[in-house]
Amino acid sequence: MSSFDPVAIRRDFPTLDQQVNGKPLVYLDNAATSQKPRAVLDVVNAYYLHDNANVHRGIHELSRRATEAYEEARAKVAGWINAADSSEVVWTRGTTEAINLVAGSWGMDNIHAGDEIVVTVLEHHSNLVPWQLLARRTGAKLRYIEIDDQGRLDLGPLPDLLNERTKLVAVSHISNSLGTVNPVREIAEAAKKVGALVLVDGAQGAVHARVDVQALGVDFYAFSGHKMCGPTGIGALWARRELLESMEPYQGGGEMIEFVERDMSTWAEVPHKFEAGTPNIAGAIGFGAAVDYLATLPADEVAAHERTLMAYAMERLGAIPGLRIYGPESVEERSAVVSFTMGDAHPHDISTILDSEGIAIRAGHHCAQLVMKRYGVSATARASFYLYNTEEEVDRLADSLEVVKGIFG
Ligand code: PMP
Repeated sequence: MSSFDPVAIRRDFPTLDQQVNGKPLVYLDNAATSQKPRAVLDVVNAYYLHDNANVHRGIHELSRRATEAYEEARAKVAGWINAADSSEVVWTRGTTEAINLVAGSWGMDNIHAGDEIVVTVLEHHSNLVPWQLLARRTGAKLRYIEIDDQGRLDLGPLPDLLNERTKLVAVSHISNSLGTVNPVREIAEAAKKVGALVLVDGAQGAVHARVDVQALGVDFYAFSGHKMCGPTGIGALWARRELLESMEPYQGGGEMIEFVERDMSTWAEVPHKFEAGTPNIAGAIGFGAAVDYLATLPADEVAAHERTLMAYAMERLGAIPGLRIYGPESVEERSAVVSFTMGDAHPHDISTILDSEGIAIRAGHHCAQLVMKRYGVSATARASFYLYNTEEEVDRLADSLEVVKGIFG
């Protein structure tokens, strides 16, 4: 008997309880950002109401409290991904900044002309453009892992793609545009054989379940708080302590130094040397509260619920004539995203009609233009699910798509 009840869980999320265009909101844009439970909002509010102060600076009570909560949050987030130590978690603005940190720091010192960076066609622009910029500045070359018709990585050519020139493999854990779950561990094993480091874009990865960065065998893991019940503007980069210690700071400023002289400075301990300036203190504390919240839920049942929703959505949407679903056919190979097109109906028009029914989905290229190119489309419509979605909501989506079908024929 399942103790996880998505209908009851919805009461934790105030935003979900509203009418949009006269209909109860159906929020299916979770891959863009998740809604926030009251537990997170309360913690952020309480911080501003009672403890607001700058961290690591003042020798006074409020600063002590703020610093303690901020560092406790780091430990919670480190625990969620099974980091060996909380000092291995660097706060960033989100996944995008975490990847740019690696490109700007590790990349600029370790990637040289003639080196190769392996990426995949599936990547979000956040895990592509920083490497293009780095390649342009260093004279390195990008090489691509392609995808098959079902949006799965084609690992066949991997032995050829990976060689002594490969310095980094940058791959997403889960594709935001198709939902493909990538075989990160297998890729990491292959990369290790040629001495390349592996960076994982975990923006969609750490969201639905705990992640074990040590078991994955990767070197960098980047993720965002806002996709997993936390606030916007906060995310994290994980890397092993020795690796972080070997890297130069990403930005200079307050908080990240030990001593400052006229011509040189020395750096604060890891992870602080990567955190220049006043950080997003409330955001970090809120991210910690989000992880606390997720940790209270029965992980296996949440995963089973999301899988059931996915399967049901694929069945119902798949039965609509002319609707094409992109990504893996097997539910086992994909995570809570259904990307689709419907004949000549433009995804933006689909999304607009759904919005008039109170249903929020995303339409566009999903910051994955290479994926759109691969399928010869400029955009798709995307419904993405989270733990609080229900089968009734999938029905509302499918029923409304039938209406769209009626309009566009
Ligand atoms: N990578 C993937 C796979 C994503 O889904 C996103 C968010 N859409 C990002 C990177 C970027 O995350 P953020 O905007 O939080 O930095």
